[in-house]
Amino acid sequence: MTASNATLRKLFGLDAFRPWQQEAINALLGGGSGLVVAPTGGGKSLCYQYPAVVLAGTSVVVSPLIALMDDQVRGLNARGIRATYLSSTLDRDEVRRREHGLRRGHYQLVYVAPERLRSDWLLRLLGSLNMPLLAVDEAHCISQWGHDFRPDYLRLGDVVRALRPPRLLACTATATPAVRREIRQRLHIDDDHAGSFEVLRGFSRPNLHLCAWEIDGAAPRNTATLRRVREVLGPPNEPRGAAIVYAGTRRGCEKLAAQFQAAGWRARPYHAGLPADQRERVSEVFAKQQLDVVIATNAFGMGIDRPDIRVVVHTRAPGSIEQYYQEVGRAGRDGQPAHGLLLSGSSDFGLRRRLIDMSCHEGDAQAAAYADRQWKMFLDLMRYVEAGSCRHDFILRYFGDERETLGGCGHCDVCERLVDGHTDGYDDEARTLIVRKALSGVARLRGRAGLSALADSLHGSKARRMQQLGLDTLSTHGLLAAHSRAWILALLRRLLTAGWVEVTRGDFPVPFLTASGRAVMKGEALASVVLPPAGVGKATKKRAARAGRRPAPVLDGPEEMALFETLRAARLVLAKGRGVPAYVVCHDRTLADMAHKKPADLHQMRDVFGMGPARIDAYGEAFLRALGTGE
Ligand code: ADP
Ligand code: ZN
Repeated sequence: MTASNATLRKLFGLDAFRPWQQEAINALLGGGSGLVVAPTGGGKSLCYQYPAVVLAGTSVVVSPLIALMDDQVRGLNARGIRATYLSSTLDRDEVRRREHGLRRGHYQLVYVAPERLRSDWLLRLLGSLNMPLLAVDEAHCISQWGHDFRPDYLRLGDVVRALRPPRLLACTATATPAVRREIRQRLHIDDDHAGSFEVLRGFSRPNLHLCAWEIDGAAPRNTATLRRVREVLGPPNEPRGAAIVYAGTRRGCEKLAAQFQAAGWRARPYHAGLPADQRERVSEVFAKQQLDVVIATNAFGMGIDRPDIRVVVHTRAPGSIEQYYQEVGRAGRDGQPAHGLLLSGSSDFGLRRRLIDMSCHEGDAQAAAYADRQWKMFLDLMRYVEAGSCRHDFILRYFGDERETLGGCGHCDVCERLVDGHTDGYDDEARTLIVRKALSGVARLRGRAGLSALADSLHGSKARRMQQLGLDTLSTHGLLAAHSRAWILALLRRLLTAGWVEVTRGDFPVPFLTASGRAVMKGEALASVVLPPAGVGKATKKRAARAGRRPAPVLDGPEEMALFETLRAARLVLAKGRGVPAYVVCHDRTLADMAHKKPADLHQMRDVFGMGPARIDAYGEAFLRALGTGE
């Protein structure tokens, strides 16, 4: 038995499976067990509903969302599908009625709330069913490293062991590799099942323009934020859509909100320090489009489903790539172009260290392990900030969503810089020398000062502070005098994200070398890092301008130009056919490179800038036909 679109239409009234749904459902129908990871609203429930309907017996779904359960069951019943649920909100008679139906084998699908798993009665009832499939929704609730751990979920391990369902499906929108591993392990997905699978799709957001600027200091960050929002939304009296600004602290929110208001925006702060009714009011007017800018701590946004959010700015580095992608993902839900800007700098390292240490108790080994993980997740985010390759691809790779990577989206700030022909411009030897100098600086510091003073010292500053800290007499003082202070700071951050330098805990974080950093300093290991661009620190304005500009494609001769125009026409047809903007199909730069390289088959197509597996899958054949090289 396989997933069929005809059956899908008949049973669910949907036209066609999404490819990954089909993949998961076929794996299940074939007797496999596995994990489906897709964003909220991606369509995960179909992956258990469809098999539940076509397989004989009663499938069981564990879900913590009682309100949604009721909705889902009503929806299914309306389609003539026999579904029900068991939760603690039902009265005794109703439960008895449903139990009776279950024992008769009447239902195709039963939803169960996790707290019910505490009852032996329920476990016996489930054990008596002919159960072809057990599905666990919101499966990350089983993970102690997840953001929504629920102890009742831990019982599921024993339930799986006791009931031995022939098929098991775990669904979640939380995608970190560690959480996925924990889900598989705790649910014994790989233990007893011959074919286990993992489907991870639907994370790509091609309409989102991503960029990250390294700026330190609250005032310049606020200025950049106001400018960016204005660039994207237009003038405050007639904005094109809305903006969310995430501003780290309550005080930061208040201050920036006042600045927005002063500039004429309908703007309000939102943070946990405000009374609940006031917060509710902000969410409400924002949803009703009577408010254009919300300046919030990360408490804002859950359940906000405004489709026309055009820009999300972070004035502080959030805690992880996951958190960032979730927050920035609130922009552009309508599929139209939207922008994400992440501002960060050296000060974010110290701040995050303090936040993590504050949230974990000294001396508790489990808490210490937790803090370590948090710190690693933060370093991953800072690696994203410093990424030397496409930001979309970076995120998709981080989530393990290789299949959707594009090989360069063409419209994030890194892609735009690469298009401009911008690399770090150093050869290996020169780069290694600079990195080793900086690492020696860290070694010589011996915990006397923080990153910022170290940058001053490497730059050769003559400030009094240098003498006070005893830095002016170090052999490394002035070793990088040829570079600006801002550039050296950016370099130090890259050494941190590369894992060569760490900072101590506590109120005054100071940098120190890690074992791998020592190896690089001694020349025993390669200094594989992209150095910061020469203009760091001065270039924010220029970069801001560039972010909005479309790079001109380089074409060689009239033949390539004609081919380029042919490809553009083909792209227009493809875009119209799928109802997406042309740049989502691909960028001019990609077409120009294609006209230049003239790939003869799908394999050669991979060498074209911006043509990753997902684009080749979707458009490769059509472009080959347009080039006249396909059949
Ligand atoms: P998730 O569980 O991943 O959060 P849902 O399963 O609730 O998402 O699905 C969200 C919406 O997407 C639902 O309205 C559903 O009908 C719709 N949907 C799911 N699969 C498809 C499909 N193949 N084609 C069209 N709509 C779909
Ligand atoms: Zn990109």
